[in-house]
Parts: sequence; structure tokens; C-alpha cells
Amino acid sequence: MTRLVGIDLGGTSIRAALSTGPTSYAKRVVRRPTPASSGPAAVISACAEAARDVAGGTPDGIAIGIPGPLDPERGLVFAAPHLPGFENLPAREMLSEAAGCPVAIHNDSNLAGYGEWAAGMGRGARIFILVTMGTGIGGAVIIDGTLLVGSAGTAAEMGHVPWDLDGPLCGQGHPGCLEGIASGTGIARCAATALAAGEESSLGAITPLTTSAIADAARAGDPLAVRVFADAARVLGRSFGALVNILGPDAIALGGGVGGTCADLLLAPIRAGMAEIGFVAPLQHCRVGQAELGQDAGLVGAVAWVVRSFGRD
Ligand SMILES: [Zn+2]
Repeated sequence: MTRLVGIDLGGTSIRAALSTGPTSYAKRVVRRPTPASSGPAAVISACAEAARDVAGGTPDGIAIGIPGPLDPERGLVFAAPHLPGFENLPAREMLSEAAGCPVAIHNDSNLAGYGEWAAGMGRGARIFILVTMGTGIGGAVIIDGTLLVGSAGTAAEMGHVPWDLDGPLCGQGHPGCLEGIASGTGIARCAATALAAGEESSLGAITPLTTSAIADAARAGDPLAVRVFADAARVLGRSFGALVNILGPDAIALGGGVGGTCADLLLAPIRAGMAEIGFVAPLQHCRVGQAELGQDAGLVGAVAWVVRSFGRD
């Protein structure tokens, strides 16, 4: 029996699962805190231990999702904002040495997208896009079963497309890009700016002003909360429309911490935004909906990827 392990590495926790099939894993998932402040060697070692633990010995292969831009072909992580020291880190080689088996690395959003394609909302899609909307905006593009990674390994950063010449900065410091207005962070900032300008709203009594508090206020009909969500969704919808025009996808899934929990507020204005700039024919062929795997998408994707990379069949 081949012991293949998928790992979802996050800034706060590591989850490892043993594959039982192309997209399934054993019930016992090993969870460990990420020793991020202890540096890359400690994090890699914790991942190797989690893999050995869940496999009951040395695994036959590992696929791991890492939260940052990286080159899967060279096994090199360029940076990981929540993992200090992961700059130009040969993570694949390090984990392979620590765990004693071959390793594949991928960006965590890309593996989440692969999971959604293999076992979630994107099943059966020839061209599938996952857009994750949380603190930032990211995603994945799968074409004919292949993850689009681009020449440097960093493709599918759909949060960083231009939206407004004079818009707010995104988390990467770009002026006026999509993430600056349509991410959870962007929504909270737009609400805070309106409140500071004196707009009346139930949000004025809420501290801290989180995206989930704004979502609750929007569901209760607060006009400011409704507007900031509708604006973000419309802009996001236009970017979906642009993706439809460029790639002609069969399906686009909305996921992430905000996108996966606020579909009731987002999907209708997203569809309206798409119709503003999308061409009619490809729009008619594109399903749009909520991602199905929630927080498990990354782990399902890692398991699917390890089977694809190192499975015998
Ligand atoms: Zn940006």
C-alpha cells in the first residue's frame, strides 16, 4: 500500500492527511501548530513529522501547499508573508530530506483550486477558475486538468489586476488594484472611510469593524454595509467578466474566508457585474457559484496532487 500524504501549511497550523484515493483521505487528519517564529527549518521539520505521523512511518510521497508565491518546477518558495524566513527557500529539497521521500510543492491557492476542480464545484469543467476572497484575493486556473502556473510559477494572481487609477493600495502596495477594494480588507476599509466622513450607519457602534460584522449588518439591511458589499461584488463581477472574456471558463467558483461565507451577499451583484463587461456567448457557458469544499479545499487539493504526482496508477 502506497503511503501518500497531502499537507496544507498555513501561517498558524499544519494539517496532514493520508490519501485513500484520488481525492479522498483517511479520517484521521494530523494537525499541528506552525512554529512560524522559529524559522523555516523548524517549520519544515514540523511538516515532516506530521507527514510521518499520519503515514505511520516514512511516506512514499508528499504534496504540500505553501502560502506564498513559489516555483513548483524548481521547488523554490519566493516569499511567504506569514512565514518569516521563507525567502528564496528551497522548500521541496528541504522537506524531501527531512521526510525521506519525494515532495511536490505548490502555492496553497493553486492546490485549493485543484481540489475544487477535482472534487468540488469545478468537477467536469475543462477550464475552471477558483477566486478566493479573504484578507486578500487570490485564485487558481485549471485548464484541461493542468494547473496554470506561468513562466515563473506565480500565475493566477487575479487579485492584482487594475481597477481604479486612484484607488487604495492593496496588500502588495499596488495603487488601485482589485484587491484594494474587493477583498475583505478592502471592504472594511471602504466602510471605515465612509464612517470617518460622517455617514450614518449601525457600523459606527462596532469595534473592531470586521468583514463578518459588516456582512451581518448588510443582512440586517444597514445601507452602508449593503453598499460596500455590493460595490466590492460588482467590481469582483467585472473582473470575473474579464476572465470570461480572456479564458472562456466553464465554471468560476468563489471561495476564501469572505467569499466562502458571504455568497448570499455577493453572488447576485457578481453576476450583474459580469454581465456589464462579459461577452454573451461565453457568459452563457460559464457556471458561477460558491466553492464547495470550504476550508478543506487546500487539503483535498494536496491529496489529489500527491496522488497525481506519485501515485502508481
Ligand atoms: Zn495588488
